[in-house]
Amino acid sequence: MELNICHLYPDILNLYGDRGNIITMKRRLESRGISVNVDECSIGQPLDVDKYDIFFIGGGQDFEQEVLLRDLASGKGKDICTAVEEEKVFLAICGGYQMLGQYYKTWDGVQLDFIGAINVHTIGAKERMIGNYMYRTTPESSGSIVVGFENHSGKTYLGEDVAPLGMMIKGYGNNGEDQTEGARYNNVFATYSHGSLLPKNPVLCDFILQTALDRRYGKTEPLVPLNDTLELNAHNYMEQRLSK
Ligand code: GLN
Repeated sequence: MELNICHLYPDILNLYGDRGNIITMKRRLESRGISVNVDECSIGQPLDVDKYDIFFIGGGQDFEQEVLLRDLASGKGKDICTAVEEEKVFLAICGGYQMLGQYYKTWDGVQLDFIGAINVHTIGAKERMIGNYMYRTTPESSGSIVVGFENHSGKTYLGEDVAPLGMMIKGYGNNGEDQTEGARYNNVFATYSHGSLLPKNPVLCDFILQTALDRRYGKTEPLVPLNDTLELNAHNYMEQRLSK
């Protein structure tokens, strides 16, 4: 088996080492004998939607998000919407999550019209939501506890057909108001969790990988367990600290 991963806008949306999520997916697949190809696609480069099983989009600040608008409007936004409707797997972080939504109105009143691949919108607040945080994903997204780090001024609100990725245990999540965190629509997994999302949360990582394998090959055998001692040590340390 093999999976093809597309890293969208790696040179623009690249906060907090979000690309570590790609390294983690690749390593965890290769450890099970599954081949992985990773391509990058940025501004001005055509996107071959059919080729890929997983799309990854990292986080970026308001400025970087604005830089993308023209490229998204020139056709890539539509291609991404097609991929979402075809139930390709997406992992989108923070600014990349907001970009999949309808629009982002920044705290100083600038409206960035995004692609509407998922029915969410984001409104900037003056106060940023920053810190280590923790949530439990819904049963449809593995039902596991995720530890992470968030840093955003945007408050995201979910539309009717979009489920949260999880419910907050500690921290702000989507908006600091309704206890939701992230979004699930088709096979889109979107979250505010930066940097070490998948390295520290192997259960969620394998759930995403299994989703991509099942989509491509039909129902596949469960992924064989790996030795996750280090990953779970890091996870449990954070979980304990955040439980206090
Ligand atoms: N610019 C967005 C916000 O502040 C996203 C930031 C990020 O990706 N960390 O809400």
